[in-house]
Amino acid sequence: MDSEWKARTKLVHGGTRRSQWNEVSEAIFLTQGFVYETAEQAEARFLNAGPDEYIYARYGNPTVAMFEERIAALEGAEDAFATASGMAAVSGALTSMLRAGDHVVSARALFGSCLYVLEEILTRYGVEVTFVDGTDLEQWRDAIREDTTAVFFESVANPTLDVVDLQGVAEIAHAVGATVIVDNVFATPVFSRAIEQGADVVVYSATKHIDGQGRALGGVILGTRDFIRGTLEPYMKHTGGSMSPFTAWIMLKGLETISLRVRAQADSALAIAEALQGQAGLARVIYPGHPSHAQYDLVQRQMGKGGTVIALELEGGQPAAFRFLNALQIVLISNNLGDAKSIATHPATTTHQRLPDDQKVALGITPGLVRLSVGIEDTEDLVADIVQAVAAAQAGK
Ligand SMILES: *Cc1c(COP(=O)(O)O)cnc(C)c1O
Repeated sequence: MDSEWKARTKLVHGGTRRSQWNEVSEAIFLTQGFVYETAEQAEARFLNAGPDEYIYARYGNPTVAMFEERIAALEGAEDAFATASGMAAVSGALTSMLRAGDHVVSARALFGSCLYVLEEILTRYGVEVTFVDGTDLEQWRDAIREDTTAVFFESVANPTLDVVDLQGVAEIAHAVGATVIVDNVFATPVFSRAIEQGADVVVYSATKHIDGQGRALGGVILGTRDFIRGTLEPYMKHTGGSMSPFTAWIMLKGLETISLRVRAQADSALAIAEALQGQAGLARVIYPGHPSHAQYDLVQRQMGKGGTVIALELEGGQPAAFRFLNALQIVLISNNLGDAKSIATHPATTTHQRLPDDQKVALGITPGLVRLSVGIEDTEDLVADIVQAVAAAQAGK
């Protein structure tokens, strides 16, 4: 593959391997294993498998390898490992490199399952975790110690859309030799420059924008070849969180169109955020790509665009938020994001239900907050749908 190719060319052609049939569309190698010509070849392959020499689908598979190579090329990472879900990627990235006695600093504003891994699971195995307000570099500076092994954060937090200064945190972490692990879902692979900005390990839930059509769970971990093949692969291949070949095929096809979809979604999200400014019934409209966002300059520097998700705070708390959701005609009530279909979520009662009320308040997950993942429908239709639902929420008081 030509490393000089621009992103959209890499997304269509990167990582392609053709069989003897020279198929146009990538083949699905739906096989758990591979046949060896001789016993000696089997022995040699178990001893040291070369590139494109496969043993067992839990270790690697040609369709999965195509996906890994394509996303690594886009992200500018040396290598990648595909996983069964985004959480297999998050937990694998952390657990593969940590041991009892290690110290991790993490942003507190996290997707519920990420918080569970850090707060409940890693600590059970003797890893010390310090939580900070990810947007405050002073707190990172105070919490990171000489013996800190890793830092973890969502570059844009779910669902409050606070943005972490990736370059700033990476500088503080690298000064003590800590590994910077970034959950980059909300930034999306299209707007990410995470590796160039100092991330050592980048994690995506491929379930979100990479599939982008709500079909399959998946995840991917990107980093240096040393980290991916030396630290991560032995952990993943023995603990079993590998991606299936069928899922990898879906994700490969997702990558072909991700740039077109995500750019259209981000343009729509900005238009919706603009249309909703000053709308009666809305206490807040949070969109990282709108100048009203507290970290607008950082967003422009770090991502260039604001991504595909907006957060709305309805006046009137949970009853108003529920009336809003129930009045939507086009936007679906569900909990995925990055999908071609627009989706609205009430985090306080669904994705972040498990959090105690004081933590919800501290993280800005208020009863009136609705997360809106903007799809690829017509922008005017979406604006009209959202505006009428806000009005209905108001009228129902
Ligand atoms: C969805 C999500 C995950 C988990 O991904 P799954 O594919 O659902 O396992 C992790 N982090 C963030 C920020 C997410 O949005």
